[in-house]
Amino acid sequence: MTVSQSSGDAPVLELTGVVKEYPGSPPLRILHGIDLTIEAGELLAVVGPSGSGKSTLLALLGSLDRPTDGRLRFEGRDLSGLSDPELAALRAHRIGFVFQQFFLLSGLSTVENVAAGLLYSGAPISVRRARAAEALGEVGLGHRLGHRPDQLSGGEKQRVAIARALVGRPALLLADEPTGALDSVSGASVVDLLRTLNADGTTVVVITHDRDLAASFPRRIGIHDGRIDFDERGMNPAGAAL
Ligand code: ADP
Ligand code: MG
Repeated sequence: MTVSQSSGDAPVLELTGVVKEYPGSPPLRILHGIDLTIEAGELLAVVGPSGSGKSTLLALLGSLDRPTDGRLRFEGRDLSGLSDPELAALRAHRIGFVFQQFFLLSGLSTVENVAAGLLYSGAPISVRRARAAEALGEVGLGHRLGHRPDQLSGGEKQRVAIARALVGRPALLLADEPTGALDSVSGASVVDLLRTLNADGTTVVVITHDRDLAASFPRRIGIHDGRIDFDERGMNPAGAAL
């Protein structure tokens, strides 16, 4: 199976007993055996106090890091059998990332930043640029192709980062506090964009501190001290459990 193929109706992600420790004496155990299944098409919020292990979990979900113990399956495939280059290829083809700090390259235009999301595709530069321009159009920035990051507002920068994440048409989009550096209006437009991507079929996982935002998602997972505290589905109008 190549990295661009999904395997039938397997969950996008299936975690069994996932443990993460950082080296030290004694080692620091951050995640204490996480069991979690994320189905294709879900829109899921991860909430929890600072330091509870949310970003550590996201790095594992995105195969940026490997667990100390336990098993992750991505679209049915056990990731422990994959080499680092195979994991990199999986990320490049199937997973998009968005972070609070945008991580745009300051010397590049928006279209060049987004085209960088296709470097692993092997497509020629003209194709990468055309697809980047198209992705920027989808996030409402078709009129900002030549701007540099320092010529953009925070909300626009995050939309460029989302365009970079989606330009490769990932199955899974992982966002770590994507609205954390934005004012409420820009944050709302970024969230609308994530909802649109989800409605178009992308599985979306968002780490957030925003209780109202989390309460508006169809599924919410709470992390506390490296363990799943709650896993709720359906509407939660009062946001009481958060
Ligand atoms: P959250 O995203 O929920 O705020 P993190 O996953 O970033 O939490 O961090 C969880 C804990 O793991 C924190 O106590 C943090 O200090 C620790 N941690 C994160 N990365 C490392 C690392 N590379 N080495 C050692 N400890 C780490
Ligand atoms: Mg974090």
